[in-house]
Amino acid sequence: FAKQRGKQRVEQYDLAYDQWLHRRTDLEHELRGAVDRGELMLVYQPIVRLPEGRVTGVEALLRWHHPRLGTVPPDEFIPLAEEAGLINRLGAFVLHEACHQLSRWIVDGHDVHVAVNVSPRELHDPEYARRVADVLHGHRVPPERLVIEVTEHAVAQDVQQLVDRLTALRAAGVRVALDDFGSGYSSLGQLRTLPVDILKIDRTLVAPIGTGSARFAPPLADVVVQLGNRLGLDVVAEGITEVGQHRVLEEAGCRYAQGDLFGRPMPAERVEALFRAVEAPPRERDTELDESA
Ligand code: C2E
Ligand code: MG
Ligand code: MG
Ligand code: MG
Repeated sequence: FAKQRGKQRVEQYDLAYDQWLHRRTDLEHELRGAVDRGELMLVYQPIVRLPEGRVTGVEALLRWHHPRLGTVPPDEFIPLAEEAGLINRLGAFVLHEACHQLSRWIVDGHDVHVAVNVSPRELHDPEYARRVADVLHGHRVPPERLVIEVTEHAVAQDVQQLVDRLTALRAAGVRVALDDFGSGYSSLGQLRTLPVDILKIDRTLVAPIGTGSARFAPPLADVVVQLGNRLGLDVVAEGITEVGQHRVLEEAGCRYAQGDLFGRPMPAERVEALFRAVEAPPRERDTELDESA
């Protein structure tokens, strides 16, 4: 009986593995043509300045809508693109699209910046900063309007190469954000040596604020806010979903906030409606409407 159970388990495992492999192969194949078929688009999530809540910037987030596979989340297709050697193609699309959109917002007189995520893989390219500068120039966008977000996970790789790339970006006038800070990869010591302008606190540090688990220890986010401020960085708290979190972080001295409380990622024309508002106070969200164009 035990043997039979074991065999059954192996078969279940094989089945799960087969399904996983099948989806992976399918996704990879479809992803190769996704840019050319126009299946990729950017949505933008507002970043607000505290305490007044004005939208000072947006983060561009990539979306893939496939006719058969539906909407594939970036947490699934970005790692795949990295492994399949497609990330440079996707990254180039994101950069062009974001700069194109930013140039239109600038022409319309909106005083905003746009943040774009870069994969650690893309930073292997020694010409990365030059390519960014070229794209900015091509769209007549002043470099200081662009923020390049690099995940803290990149620090686990070649730190010297990372420092070189970020230094080159800043030399080109682009601002650099360290994304997902506190998710566990870099040390506090490394933060001091990394050439960054902005620190984005990972939402896993924000989530416990205002819940029972945070009652017994000072929220870690607090400590990170102080650290960032002491280093002269602009600190952005990610993933704020509740008014209580907003209040705690504001009191801790956090200058910028991002999260569903202030607005979910949304199409360009929806987010630009928020730019004009002097104040963008938290309000009730209709989540179903959010990413619809
Ligand atoms: P990220 O750069 O840390 O982006 C923030 C993620 O947190 C986004 O997920 C956003 O929708 C989500 N988020 C923001 N506020 C809240 C909140 O209040 N609650 C919850 N539950 N989630 C919130 P998204 O768009 O699914 O992207 C996931 C990750 O995929 C990004 O994390 C980034 O690492 C990667 N990614 C997205 N777009 C791109 C891209 O164009 N290029 C690259 N290389 N990576 C990208
Ligand atoms: Mg990001
Ligand atoms: Mg982030
Ligand atoms: Mg994150």
